[in-house]
Amino acid sequence: MQKIVIASNNQGKIKEFQDIFAKYNIEIIPQSQLNVPEPEEPFETFVENSLLKARHCSKYTGLPSLADDSGLCVDILGGEPGVFSARYAGTPKSDQKNIDKLLKAMQNKTNKDAYFYCSLVFVRHHKDPQPIIADGVFNGQITQEQKGDNGHGYDPIFLVKEYQKTAAELDPETKNKISHRGIAIEELIKKLKLSNLI
Ligand code: IMP
Repeated sequence: MQKIVIASNNQGKIKEFQDIFAKYNIEIIPQSQLNVPEPEEPFETFVENSLLKARHCSKYTGLPSLADDSGLCVDILGGEPGVFSARYAGTPKSDQKNIDKLLKAMQNKTNKDAYFYCSLVFVRHHKDPQPIIADGVFNGQITQEQKGDNGHGYDPIFLVKEYQKTAAELDPETKNKISHRGIAIEELIKKLKLSNLI
């Protein structure tokens, strides 16, 4: 395998995958470079959405594809905002509005447990009967107020217990090691190796 198309337009993620796969002499191509239109993400689960994105991308390009889907799940809210994390407070997407809405929803709740989840799906081709699926969980709690300037999304209100800091107060290297994405990427690489794909 020489090329994988990544079903993402997020520059940070594209660069992260390019760096990882360069070690295996695999070129990561962003889907925008091949004019892949963005599909709807109609499902209630992360894995269904990431599978759909990977298949869609592979169908358009005829190349192996990799997609990810992630978000924040809060236990007491039945897993919300979940797959709607990016647009929890509506569109256009706003991290600050999402944070404000979640802090309000959590005001009188005593159980603050939450986790970030990341689903990664790789398909060899769009009819691949055995997609490679990896995932990662990052446990924490929702804080009362926001703290820290690093990261993105809900990081300023996500307390990482073992560090007693929010994810936005951690340096990016530390966060990447313990995060849902970091864990999912590690698992994906292991599975690609086991399948002799890299
Ligand atoms: P995506 O699927 O990675 O684009 O993530 C969807 C949404 O989930 C983002 O817009 C964020 O609101 C939230 N999210 C996912 N991962 C993180 C994270 O590591 N920190 C903070 N927010 C995140």
